[in-house]
Amino acid sequence: MAGTCEYQTLIENGICQITYCADCGYVRLCLGAMTLHLTGEQFEQLADGLGKAASCKRTIDDPKRRRVMRPTEAVH
Ligand SMILES: [Zn+2]
Repeated sequence: MAGTCEYQTLIENGICQITYCADCGYVRLCLGAMTLHLTGEQFEQLADGLGKAASCKRTIDDPKRRRVMRPTEAVH
């Protein structure tokens, strides 16, 4: 990263912006006030991890599971 990086935007949404410099292979992830510089490999691992975490979270949040838990809560 010699200051000549040309980061191209991969995605930009309400909470983060992810840009990539194909020359050095670095990915820059801006999340609020935080900026992470990741190698391509680290980014791939993070992306994979985030995908799995999001999937796990959805399983936890699954409405069917909530329905099973709700009657117990309603007893009180
Ligand atoms: Zn670069």
